[in-house]
Amino acid sequence: MKTDLYLDFDSTMVNSDKSICRIYNEDYKDYEGFVEADWRKHSNWSYKNVCPLIHVHEDNPVQVIQDYYGSERLFNTLEFYDDALDVLKKLKEKYNLIICTSAFPKNASKKVLWIEEHLPMVDEIITLINMSGNGYGKSRVTMIEDGAIFIDDHPKNLHSTKASKKYLFKFKETDYNGNWDGPVVSSWKEIESILL
Ligand SMILES: [Mg+2]
Repeated sequence: MKTDLYLDFDSTMVNSDKSICRIYNEDYKDYEGFVEADWRKHSNWSYKNVCPLIHVHEDNPVQVIQDYYGSERLFNTLEFYDDALDVLKKLKEKYNLIICTSAFPKNASKKVLWIEEHLPMVDEIITLINMSGNGYGKSRVTMIEDGAIFIDDHPKNLHSTKASKKYLFKFKETDYNGNWDGPVVSSWKEIESILL
């Protein structure tokens, strides 16, 4: 029997930050004080440090970021992290691949359709839609199956479930990924070497 492997989507499989920064650069390039957003410097979930003009010019910056996450522009430019797709194809032989992702009403259906198109090897998608949009809520998924493994870029999500093995996907340092003293992976090659 295959082991259940739970995987986060945004900022774990796909470089969502890169797409958000790309949209920001399109929208704010003509504004005074514009500095091109560099996704490598993203460290804050509301993108305050790399997309500051949203926080200067918009009444509800978090809503703007959520709208970006729900936009066609995001899904049209979404990229996998290096090697993610190849490694996922290999993992499929040994694991049930279950994406466990937080979503907003506006992006949930687009995200599921994107996964269906780009990740046909995925067995299940668990989409948690918190209507207040705080982006958490994975504790609803206990992950108590024998040997279940969970990989996520947010320690808060890892802490909240009972998966047997939990790995922080830490592609870069952020304001929110410090609170974790468990195992860390920083690339999909590393995930391959640990799980296969
Ligand atoms: Mg994530």
